Amino acid sequence: MDESSKHILRALLLGLRDEMYRRFDDIGRKWSHLNHVDNESEVKAAIRKLTADLNLFESREVKEIEAIEKALNRVDSDMYGICESCGAYIAEQHLLAVPWASKCPHCAQANAMMMPFSANEAVRRN
Ligand SMILES: [Zn+2]
Repeated sequence: MDESSKHILRALLLGLRDEMYRRFDDIGRKWSHLNHVDNESEVKAAIRKLTADLNLFESREVKEIEAIEKALNRVDSDMYGICESCGAYIAEQHLLAVPWASKCPHCAQANAMMMPFSANEAVRRN
């Protein structure tokens, strides 16, 4: 992968990471706003909603942030864009769509088939 592609993909990953942290901050801000709500049932409803947001965030976004951090490390160590299962180069087009990909589409798919639960989850998310 040439330097300019790497540059673009690193910027893409950093942007995604910032976006994730911003969403996390938003949830924190909503929690602190609860101090200013007097109505008890409103507070209860808000807590229910925020807890659901937070659970969703933990199960999904935390995994994505981890994947993004790992991808950023790979960019720096020159391992980026190389499938960690089979060692093949991952097509740049695929990386632009899924910049945190650590496996080529072939290996990622094989992996998903071995773990039907996460494959189903991926289908539900899309
Ligand atoms: Zn592979």
